[in-house]
Amino acid sequence: TGSTRPQRILRAVQKNSTRGSPCSVVNAIDDYCKHKEWAMNVGDEKGIIVDDVVLELKPITVLELGTYCAYSTVRIANLLPPEAKLITLEFNAESAAIAREIITWAGLEEKIQLIIGASGDWIPRLKEEFGIETFDLVFLDHWKDRYLPDTKLLEKCGLLKPGAVLLADNVICPGTPDYLDYVRNSPRYKSKFYRSHLEYTQEEDGLEHSVFLGMAGRGAE
Ligand code: SAM
Ligand code: MG
Repeated sequence: TGSTRPQRILRAVQKNSTRGSPCSVVNAIDDYCKHKEWAMNVGDEKGIIVDDVVLELKPITVLELGTYCAYSTVRIANLLPPEAKLITLEFNAESAAIAREIITWAGLEEKIQLIIGASGDWIPRLKEEFGIETFDLVFLDHWKDRYLPDTKLLEKCGLLKPGAVLLADNVICPGTPDYLDYVRNSPRYKSKFYRSHLEYTQEEDGLEHSVFLGMAGRGAE
C-alpha cells in the first residue's frame, strides 16, 4: 500500500475527527482500528478503565512508556487538570512523528512532552532534564519484557512516591509474568487486576493497578 499503519491511522484522524477535540480523535482511531485495521492502542474497552483510574487519582505528573500513535496519550491527557503534565516515551522515530501530529491535531501539545528514545536511557535523566520530582501515575504499555526492569529503574531513580500508581496494560495478552509476580508479591506495592479484553478483540487481557507503598524491603534483592 506504500504507507505504514501509523500513517493510515493519522489519515483516519484527519478525515474523521475534529481538530481540537481529543474525544473525537480517540473515537476516530477506535473506529478505524475496529473496522479497518487492528492496532496496538489500549483501545475503547480498556480505555474506560484507564479513564476511571485517571479521574479518581487526578495525577499532576504522568509518565507513559510506549506512545505509538498517541491514542492513550490523548485519551489520558484530555482528562488531566490544566496544570498537569504528561511525559510520553517512544523509541520508534516514525511512530513518534505520527504521534506528534496526532497530539497537535487534538490540541494537547501544551500538556504533553513526547520524548523520542528508549525508556532505559531516559528514565534516569527525567529528574535532571525535565525537573520532575516524582510521578503520580505511570502507564506501562511498551515492550512487555521492559515492564519489570523499568519499574525497578523508576524505584532506583526515586521517581515514585508513596501513593503513586503504576497502571500496566497487556498483563495477560501478550502477558508480563515477571512483572505481575513482582508487583503482586513485593511489600512495596498493593496490586489489583482489572479484567478486560485485548484491544478490539474478545481475547482475555487486563490491566494491573499497583499502588507504590514506599521502599520497604529495600536491600532484599
Ligand atoms: N500506549 C499506546 C496506546 O495505547 O495508544 C500504545 C503503545 S504500543 C503497545 C508500544 C510502543 O512502545 C511501540 O510504539 C514501541 O515502539 C514502544 N516501545 C517499546 N519499547 C520501548 C522502550 N523501551 N522505550 C520506548 N518506547 C518503547
Ligand atoms: Mg497495550
